[in-house]
Amino acid sequence: MILSEHNKTADTLVRATAADGGVRCMAAVTTNLVAEAARRHHTSHTVAAALGRTLTGTLLLGAGQKEFDRLTVQIIGDGPVGGITAEANAQGQVRGYVRHPEAEVPLNADGKFDVRAVVGNGMFYVTYESGYEVGLYREPYRGAVPIVSGEIAEDFAFYLTKSEQVPSAVMLGVLRRARNSGETFVEAAGGVIVQVMPGADERTVAAIEAAVAGAPHTTALIREGAQPVDLLRAALGDVPFEVLDERPVGFACQCSHERAISIISSIERSELESILREDKGAAMTCHFCNETYRLDEAALERILVKSSEQ
Ligand code: ZN
Repeated sequence: MILSEHNKTADTLVRATAADGGVRCMAAVTTNLVAEAARRHHTSHTVAAALGRTLTGTLLLGAGQKEFDRLTVQIIGDGPVGGITAEANAQGQVRGYVRHPEAEVPLNADGKFDVRAVVGNGMFYVTYESGYEVGLYREPYRGAVPIVSGEIAEDFAFYLTKSEQVPSAVMLGVLRRARNSGETFVEAAGGVIVQVMPGADERTVAAIEAAVAGAPHTTALIREGAQPVDLLRAALGDVPFEVLDERPVGFACQCSHERAISIISSIERSELESILREDKGAAMTCHFCNETYRLDEAALERILVKSSEQ
């Protein structure tokens, strides 16, 4: 794993409450996992920002939910990136990919990466699945809203407010910096979600709204060494909060060499024989993490021998 140069601490996520449970909040520092995703997928600068914000938002969204095994967020727009997919589990592991990692657009009027332009207009989809690992698969929960901003944080906020009916403020950021060599790296990434539950005290909500509006950029704080609790303090201002738990988060994929073998083994025998004859091997690349698994001639022959034994 490649660590960013300024923040070598592990990525973590904190859940907290404020205003006697009337306010729920989640904050995460995700510099390392965003750097790993950008490195694995060879993303352009703007796509790294778009994918990093989506991965962070998905982890934070999952942290606010009690019962799910797998949470998938898909942002499908008509911009050059073509689509972003992030998948998180309840253990704080996340993986994700984009359709066109190389897509790039000019900086926006503020001189920032124009995430909105690379995403475009389209739909924001959320799917919660549970029970599939223990054979108690339940009907997944699905939500969909139009992309209202394309900057991603606003889209998570709109989704939470409209579809889950929990008014939420969402901040997501990815900061990249250039080395002297011109090569860039992810210097800071992270985010915060603050949610107002029904019946929350109005004065507290107003105080939080003012604090959120005036809070410095998440990535500016992380670059200075801020941890998730520091992000919450910045977002909540003077409103006291109670930390419920803190957990490590990271980029992790479920693919493996064994899974690649089992997928190849399920190919029809005649097709497998022609792959062996013509290609002398097979290679499979995982969408989610861009890892390539290669099976050489000998490995394919072993699979054929095994299948003829069955
Ligand atoms: Zn993978």
